[in-house]
Amino acid sequence: MHKTLPSLLLLASLTHAAQAQTTGLYQPRDIKRAYAKGTRAADGRPGPKYWQNRARYDITVQAAPPARDIRGRETITYFNNSPDTLKQLVLRIILNVHKPEAAREGDVSPDYLTSGVVIDSFRVAGQLRQLPTGLGTAPGVRLPKPLAPHDSVKLAVAWHFPLSVQSGREGMIDKTTYFLAYFYPRVAVYDDYNGWDRLPFLNDKEFYNDFNDYTLRVQTPANYLVWATGTLQNPRQVLQPAAAKRLEKSMTSEEVIHVATAADLAKKSITAQQPLNTWVWKATDISDMTVGLSDHYVWDAASVIVDPATKRRASVQAAFADSTTDFHSSVKFSQNALGWFSRNWPGVPYPYPKMTAFQGFADMEYPMMVNDSPEKDLKFAQLVQDHEIAHTYFPFYMGINESRYAFMDEGWATTFELLIGRAENGNAAADEFYRKFRVVNWINNPSTAQDLPVITPSSELKAGYGNNSYGKASLSYLALKDMLGDELFKKCLHGYMDRWHGKHPIPWDYFNSMSNLAGQDLTWFFQNWFFSNGYIDLALTKADKTSQGTVLTIQNVGGFAVPVDLKVTYADGSTETLHRSPELWRANQPQATLIIPAGKAVQSVTFDHGLYLDADPKNDRLAVQ
Ligand SMILES: [Zn+2]
Repeated sequence: MHKTLPSLLLLASLTHAAQAQTTGLYQPRDIKRAYAKGTRAADGRPGPKYWQNRARYDITVQAAPPARDIRGRETITYFNNSPDTLKQLVLRIILNVHKPEAAREGDVSPDYLTSGVVIDSFRVAGQLRQLPTGLGTAPGVRLPKPLAPHDSVKLAVAWHFPLSVQSGREGMIDKTTYFLAYFYPRVAVYDDYNGWDRLPFLNDKEFYNDFNDYTLRVQTPANYLVWATGTLQNPRQVLQPAAAKRLEKSMTSEEVIHVATAADLAKKSITAQQPLNTWVWKATDISDMTVGLSDHYVWDAASVIVDPATKRRASVQAAFADSTTDFHSSVKFSQNALGWFSRNWPGVPYPYPKMTAFQGFADMEYPMMVNDSPEKDLKFAQLVQDHEIAHTYFPFYMGINESRYAFMDEGWATTFELLIGRAENGNAAADEFYRKFRVVNWINNPSTAQDLPVITPSSELKAGYGNNSYGKASLSYLALKDMLGDELFKKCLHGYMDRWHGKHPIPWDYFNSMSNLAGQDLTWFFQNWFFSNGYIDLALTKADKTSQGTVLTIQNVGGFAVPVDLKVTYADGSTETLHRSPELWRANQPQATLIIPAGKAVQSVTFDHGLYLDADPKNDRLAVQ
């Protein structure tokens, strides 16, 4: 709808500054150290000394509903690629957040509480180690022998825990439907800028994991269907031949195949009829595994081409209660979303072989899976599913540290949600939804916490967390897209994603990459959007008639470098909308002038805010004398 006027400044900078860098942004001292050590480079690339650790997980987990007891055992082979000798490992035992005494961001109901995870045995390099009782979500464990650089250590863990009755991101969906997430003990991330990630899991921040290889075995009684991250290795062992054939057919089918209907389940004609089936899944270079299981969920599947160049297809599946209306459209929604994200924004082929939507209560993303609530409104159901699938790129493909920098993933998912929403429902409806869900509550909330800079570590935010991570970050990405124009913005975004997928980028890698790839120092823009206490409030303060035309003075009271759309009403009753990208603020952020060329007599001017709602609309209109 809005046309972006090419900016002379931008064109000039493109020709003269091919090697531009971001200069002068505040860097915390630990981040500065990473750049000095050469693990990250000033041009935005991973540095020559970049490293990250990884692990191989071999997990077996048992579930036999309605018993809520989940039992697991695993071996973890942990590779130390860092230049440091590690005297200890930090583990993540995330489900200890259910213990009554655990620290949490908010209150929980009694149905959320459990006794937490019991570690039945813990071996390091074959030696049995006693773990202290009362473990939290991020305990440190001393190694019997320090782990040297480029060496590995093998852990063997057995554990059990009661599944939470109340289902959030994981837990009991109904008496015989379970969703397992965060369910296996893992090694925390040890990285180049922070060392061990020791932040306790408090329930609000979602992920920070290394990229690992997994073999996952899920053991369930006959007639329980299992869906999980990864590729099912043994469909012919766990499914009866006709069901296995339908699943196989879905892998190349555009049409939705009903792998398991309610009638099939009643006839017990889906799973192998052994007392216990072992479903085996594998996934490589991935940051987590999750599992859904049920004895009465139906199963739809189809596939979609996600890479037009190679014609690679991804499988799309859905698992849900037959009585739910929206989930019957889930596979179609996923086909559309995977195809659209692959071809448009971010315009990177969907990087995994599969996506499964599982009916739960979380509205939450996992690698290759989403857990979404049933919704009465089909449009809203699709939007939520789109948003969660968009997270495939950020945080999973890109290895984002959400515990500290949630705006690096939620901001992008919110942006892609708007862009796919415009394609699905038209600009007006998608923009209206975005304003309502992502902007209006923030812009009308004058409290100090809401105006904390977006760069504030997510771990230190409470009230300001949501708007900093979603709306404000997303508006900054959209403002940059408007300023650079779609073509250059996409080139920069792809460059940043190319450099960092499968790694752990931090905000400065994004800032530096975008400047470097755009060929212009964007310090002023990132300083404005990420490091200031800005918000949105523009004021039209003055209109001067000159020989050039009407010169308007715009004060930027809130400070954010937003695009400006100005509706001009002429004396003859005609109107026109002028658009200026955030480039308008480059020279002088507190104030800008905009000239309406001489010609027709101007009667009045008023802002048309679009997505960029204004905190104080009283100063948004000016009559021109
Ligand atoms: Zn999200």
